[in-house]
Amino acid sequence: MVENLHSNIADRLEFARQQIADFASLAGRQSSDVKLVAVSKTKPIDAIITAYHAGQRCFAENYVQEAVEKIQALSNYSDIEWHFIGPLQSNKTRLVAENFAWCQTLDREKIAKRLDQQRPSNLPPLNVCIQINIDDEDTKAGIAIDDVLPLAKSINSLEKLRLRGIMSIPSANTNLQDQMHSFHKLKQIFEELRLIYADVDTLSLGMSNDLENAIAAGSTMVRIGTAIFGARNK
Ligand SMILES: *Cc1c(COP(=O)(O)O)cnc(C)c1O
Repeated sequence: MVENLHSNIADRLEFARQQIADFASLAGRQSSDVKLVAVSKTKPIDAIITAYHAGQRCFAENYVQEAVEKIQALSNYSDIEWHFIGPLQSNKTRLVAENFAWCQTLDREKIAKRLDQQRPSNLPPLNVCIQINIDDEDTKAGIAIDDVLPLAKSINSLEKLRLRGIMSIPSANTNLQDQMHSFHKLKQIFEELRLIYADVDTLSLGMSNDLENAIAAGSTMVRIGTAIFGARNK
């Protein structure tokens, strides 16, 4: 049973890599331009170790407390790159600043300043993405496209943060045409940022269900949970 679970994760990871390669190739892109981040939220440490042994090094978590427990338990695996991708309240910023390499859900100047102040000086700058609420959904965090440039400017002035790009979770309920329209708007603001800020190289877009279109639209980072670790318990 346990054997099975583990070989499943390795197989699914391999399948996800193959899909990224195929979709990149269909879009005339290099698969090495699309980084795979494995979303391990709610999944046990064993599952992460299995994925690690299958070559995966980037993992993402949504819940600060759960994440920090896992990161500490896995501190021997020092080449794991941890990404925070959940909603971030100001009382949790210190834990993110101290434990993660990336925060992909930055959407407020106040949070940016706290992360900057709380990032330990012995660590490299915290890589950050601005989260955009591209389909203007009430249930989702993130800012409007029009607010991206001012926030980028203030992030760029903070020494312990490194602006790497943008992240978005597009609506799962749109038709293909609307979805592509949203993806293209994200690609456009990403290109604008890239012209201004030398460190910007990340368009974090695409999950288990919209991988193909995200890669076609120019995503450089996909965040995949279910397709690697299986369904999560609600
Ligand atoms: C949970 C989550 C994912 C992974 O979604 P799957 O559908 O399981 O691939 C990606 N990004 C964010 C921000 C998430 O919260």
